[in-house]
Amino acid sequence: MKKYLNNIWLGIYTVLIGMKITFVHLFAKNVTVQYPNKHPLDKAGGDKMPMNARNRIFNDMELCNGCNGCARACPVNCITVETLKVVPGDAPPLKNGEKRGLWVTNYTIDFAKCCFCGLCIDPCPTEAIKMTTEFEYSQYDRGNLLYKFSKMTDEQIKQKKELLANFTAEKAKKEAEAKKAAEQAKAAEAPKPETGDGK
Ligand code: SF4
Ligand code: SF4
Repeated sequence: MKKYLNNIWLGIYTVLIGMKITFVHLFAKNVTVQYPNKHPLDKAGGDKMPMNARNRIFNDMELCNGCNGCARACPVNCITVETLKVVPGDAPPLKNGEKRGLWVTNYTIDFAKCCFCGLCIDPCPTEAIKMTTEFEYSQYDRGNLLYKFSKMTDEQIKQKKELLANFTAEKAKKEAEAKKAAEQAKAAEAPKPETGDGK
């Protein structure tokens, strides 16, 4: 009889041990976001977005220097960066005051391919690219998930290309003239060959 009662107690005790975590969580603060009944960003009734949540990315083109670091880090190649050299004196600095060396003529992220790994964020030297709190951007058409961040129009890109071509041609011309002048000066300074039998 004693053994029988002992076994019953052991059974109850084992269940209590097993249910310990469950009982603790019965009275703990609820951490589950009841989406979509409560929206994480709804100040009126929702909770806050969890820290380091991975959502849609944004690139501030006024900070982007076109270094291509984010595109190189992306494991699925969903970032495209196209740039054009800036002609000296033709570009305002970046928003952080740094000199602009490149025009970013095209900057796109294809969110249909993005796996939200966040690897593109850290290499950015100007903190231009960031995660936002935007996570509801589903589309019926995949093409609509290709986000274009560069604001340059085709006309502006054409003008910048022409300006750069003219600048490059002018620079090459000046360099060729300087080289020719240096060669002429060197030839003038060189000793003249002696004439006659040399005695
Ligand atoms: S989060 Fe990852 S996959 Fe998405 S763009 Fe950045 S590096 Fe590429
Ligand atoms: S790493 Fe930053 S600065 Fe460089 S291209 Fe990407 S967003 Fe622009």
